[in-house]
Amino acid sequence: MRTVLAAIFGALALAACAGADDAPGESEDEIARRTRRYVDVSAEAPMTGVPRDKILRALVKIDRVARESRDPLRRALAAETLARIEGGDVLLGSIQAARGIDRWHMCKDEKAKACDGPPPASDDRAWTGDAALARTLEEDLAGYQWGNRIYFTISSATDVNELAATLVHEVNHVANRSECSYYRAIDAHVVEPDRAYVEEHRAFLAECLFGDEAATVASCSRYAASRVDEYGFDAKLSRVLPGGSNDPAKLAELVVAAEPNGDAPFGRLVPRKRDWPRSFGACR
Ligand SMILES: [Zn+2]
Repeated sequence: MRTVLAAIFGALALAACAGADDAPGESEDEIARRTRRYVDVSAEAPMTGVPRDKILRALVKIDRVARESRDPLRRALAAETLARIEGGDVLLGSIQAARGIDRWHMCKDEKAKACDGPPPASDDRAWTGDAALARTLEEDLAGYQWGNRIYFTISSATDVNELAATLVHEVNHVANRSECSYYRAIDAHVVEPDRAYVEEHRAFLAECLFGDEAATVASCSRYAASRVDEYGFDAKLSRVLPGGSNDPAKLAELVVAAEPNGDAPFGRLVPRKRDWPRSFGACR
């Protein structure tokens, strides 16, 4: 599923402050990053340099929210997102290094020629496509999620706080296997608009509640609705919400009301291990 990363304006000035720590030459920032971890999708071509550094900084940010927020839901979102990433339940990688079924789905979303015809197996990790696809992905795609794999194109312009919020958004998709509800015909990428709306609204709700200490369910529901509108789904919530409601705020209320133990017909907000999908094979 395509990730729409907001346009990134300006460069984030990161002060490299040398703290009065015990390891001479190592700043507090560096120590914080060194203690964070993630598992790369690609053992052959893992992220290095700037992309790896930005991911680690984003994890530091998520850890800080998990420890310091005054809001229990915000702390849970941060702590469980971090735990799924650091525990390897979710894998992170670069779009350039993506292979196999994930790259094929990226190709399908880009409507590129290389993926005309039937898909490779759901566990294929070798399919590469052609040079035209490589160019298209490099120019066009900022992020992608399929199964438990999340891919990014990260540059020196990438804002670390925005990346942290995007990780919360994408891990929410993984926890709910969004790609399995998103499409009416998965191999042709024909979107099911009502369910796709629900999947995106919930992921943006999670991202928003994580991103701002002052956020409320109501303000984040408005944020989520405006972001999902950018996708242009021809959705009608009345076809899925109880009582024929068309109000996205109702959807947000139901998603939050299901935390932490209630029935969750519209999916889980917090990506807890106990609710985690048993496998990430073909959708059924
Ligand atoms: Zn999304």
